[in-house]
Amino acid sequence: MRGGLPLFRFKGIRVLVHWTFLLLPAYIAFMGWSEGTAMTEILVEIGLVMIVFVCVVLHEFGHALTAQRYGVGTRDITLLPIGGVASLERMPEDPKQEFMITVAGPLVNLVIAVLAFGLIAITGISLLLTDLFNDITSWNAVLSFLVMSNLGLFLFNLIPAFPMDGGRILRSLLSMRLPRERATRIAAGVGRFLALGFVAYGLLEGAPFLALIGLFIFMAAGAEAKQVAQQSRMRSILVQDVMKMDPLCLDQAMDLQSAWNQLTFGEHQVLMVLDQGRYVGLVGREELRSAMVIGSPGTLVALARKVAPVHSTDPALPVLQRMMAEGVPAVPVLVAGSATAVLTRDRLMDAFNSQLADKR
Ligand SMILES: [Zn+2]
Repeated sequence: MRGGLPLFRFKGIRVLVHWTFLLLPAYIAFMGWSEGTAMTEILVEIGLVMIVFVCVVLHEFGHALTAQRYGVGTRDITLLPIGGVASLERMPEDPKQEFMITVAGPLVNLVIAVLAFGLIAITGISLLLTDLFNDITSWNAVLSFLVMSNLGLFLFNLIPAFPMDGGRILRSLLSMRLPRERATRIAAGVGRFLALGFVAYGLLEGAPFLALIGLFIFMAAGAEAKQVAQQSRMRSILVQDVMKMDPLCLDQAMDLQSAWNQLTFGEHQVLMVLDQGRYVGLVGREELRSAMVIGSPGTLVALARKVAPVHSTDPALPVLQRMMAEGVPAVPVLVAGSATAVLTRDRLMDAFNSQLADKR
C-alpha cells in the first residue's frame, strides 16, 4: 500500500493520496445514483466525507509532529479509503514516547470537536440534534457535523484494537510494567479479537468498510506482534552464541605468504595477530588477499588492524551495528579476560537471518 499522488508538503512531511482513496467518492456517488438521490445531495455527502478526511490528515499530523519532537521523522502521510497512515521511521521503544505520539492523534480530533462546539455555543444556535440533511448548507450544520464526526474519530481511534491508536496506547501502558514483547502480544491479541468483531458486525450489519478495517487490523496486529518477537529474539543472541572459538592465531613476524597458506588451509575468514601471545590486531581474508595481489612485502604486523575487543557475554546486535559502522569484518572476543575467539560479520548475519526465517 505504498506510494500515491502527492498533495502537499508541511514541515517536511509529504501528504499522499493512494489511488484506492478515489474509490470512496466513486462509491458514494454510485450508491446515491442507484438510490435516485439528487445530485446536490450526493455532492454534499462527498463534501462531508472530504471534511472528515481533512480532520484525518490533521489527526495524522498530530502523530507526526509529536514524533518529530522526539527526533523521529515521518516519511509521508498516506490517505487510504479506510483512513490515514503516518509512516513513522520507527516507533520509539520508550513507552512514554509511544504513548505521547499515539495519543496526540485522537487529541487533535477532540480539540477540533471542542472548538467547533465552542463556536456553536458562542453563536447561540444549537443545531446539534437536528437532521443534518434538512439544513446542510448552514454554517451551524457544518459545525455540528464537525463536532459529531470528530467525536466519532476520537472514540473510534481509542478502541484498543492494536495497531490502531487505542491498541498502541494499551501496549505503551502495558510496557511500562511488562517486557515490550509480552505487552505487544497482549495488545495484539486484544486487537485481533476486536478486529474479528468488526468483521462480523460489518458483514452482518452491511457495513463493508468496517469489515475491511477489521480485516486490515487483524493482519496488521499479527505482523507487528511477529516483528517485535523477532526483534526481541535477535536481542537475546549473545556474542558467545555466535563466536568462533580457537581462531587462527599467528605471530606478527610471520610473512604474508605463509599466513595466506595457513588461512586458506584452515578455511578461516580472519586471523588474529599476536605478539608473544598477546593480541595485536586482526587481519581479514580479503585484506590479506589484496596485500598478496599487489605484492606487498613484509609481515603480518603491517596489516594487523587493532579492532577493539568485545566480551563473550555482550549482546550481539550492537556488535553487528558497530562492525557495520567501522567497516570491519570481525572483532576479537574476550573470554574470561583474554582474546581467544573471533566474531565475524558473516556468522552474525547468518544467525540473525535464521532468526528472521524462524516462524515459531
Ligand atoms: Zn492515529
